[in-house]
Amino acid sequence: MILRPLTPAFSPNEQTIGGEGAQVRPDLLDRLATVHAERARASLLRRLRAVEEVEGAQVWIGGKRLLNFASNDYLGLAQHPALVEALTIAAARWGVGASAAHLLGGHRDEHAALEEALARWTGRERALLFSTGYMANLGVLSALLGPKDVCVQDKLNHASLLDGARLAGCELQRYPHADVYAARRQLETRPDAAALLATDGVFSMDGDLAPLVELVALCKTQHATLMVDDAHGLGVLGPEGAGSVAEAGLSHDDVPILMATLGKALGVAGAFVVGSATLIDGLVQGARTFIYTTSMPPALAAATCAAVDIARFEPWRRDALMCAVRHFRVGAAERGIALLDSRTAIQPVLIGESAAALQTSAALEEAGFFVPAIRPPTVPAGQARLRVALSALHRESDVERLLDALGAAVRAISSAPHSPYEHISE
Ligand SMILES: *Cc1c(COP(=O)(O)O)cnc(C)c1O
Repeated sequence: MILRPLTPAFSPNEQTIGGEGAQVRPDLLDRLATVHAERARASLLRRLRAVEEVEGAQVWIGGKRLLNFASNDYLGLAQHPALVEALTIAAARWGVGASAAHLLGGHRDEHAALEEALARWTGRERALLFSTGYMANLGVLSALLGPKDVCVQDKLNHASLLDGARLAGCELQRYPHADVYAARRQLETRPDAAALLATDGVFSMDGDLAPLVELVALCKTQHATLMVDDAHGLGVLGPEGAGSVAEAGLSHDDVPILMATLGKALGVAGAFVVGSATLIDGLVQGARTFIYTTSMPPALAAATCAAVDIARFEPWRRDALMCAVRHFRVGAAERGIALLDSRTAIQPVLIGESAAALQTSAALEEAGFFVPAIRPPTVPAGQARLRVALSALHRESDVERLLDALGAAVRAISSAPHSPYEHISE
């Protein structure tokens, strides 16, 4: 396949201004400004806003207090005193920065202890820490795959999995969302090539789960290696919150490469990969995003160890989250608000056009709720949405208030002329 550039393509005409057919080298920053203006016209500008204060499920933005439905802190751990204490104690011992990469003195007791805790939790032989989930995915895919190999991925996978395949230079085939038959057809086109099938466990903008059991069976018959990115499943699903793979009853043999992040349900930052000693030893040697980067601060690793314990052994947090999810879904149905088919913390409300999604988000903000609009290219064209993220921090009354505001905002949009909402089937 031909990989598309990450930024929108330019028509050649724009680049050949100048007399007598003379080629004028385009100015990169001018071009950036042009793209910016185009994005603004299409209601696609992203906006960077500073949060002034966070307290539980509340945030202060622009001097206004908002109930936050945009956070990935699903279990309410980001401000937990036990994490803050672990961080403070470790910082007093080590200072702040690790001051080196893992292989050059940056790997401390705390990192080793966290890797052991993560391997135990997920039932895998070994674990390896990465500084972010984005880097973990780039590192794994580029360490495993080369130009002769094939990587098959769900179309709705996280950007970092897509970029990992690009970086590896392998053939990338993307199958329609959750379509196991299409994935099989794609694998069958390259029966002799080494193959990785990579999928999100829980899809980050839809909230639904990958058909893991079917994908495991497919990978076994096709002799492909399966990798699951469980950024939104870890802590939320499965026994002791061990994630979507554990919930599906799948073993190490079924899912040999499991990756998850530490910045979502665990409330800290960073990521890890778990698997066999062969996998982890190979990544230590070959994953460039592990080798050539400063290790995460040891104090963060200490805070994450505390988070793992709470996530595993305080199941009431998962129960509270699932209560909020059920409450939200029942309340949405009662009010005629169409939701995507999700039973996780991610509960998107599909709007359609980007401008309408922005308008709905602004109406909610006016009413005291922070629910940002998610627009293309993060989601497919015409599928802009409000990504409602629920948390153990939300009380029933918080969810109820959101539902009322959401119902009013969606009604206002759908009664507007040329309603972008009308194509949504219930
Ligand atoms: C957030 C996310 C990542 C990236 O993780 P970071 O640690 O934030 O870089 C990767 N994959 C999925 C599915 C994610 O949701």
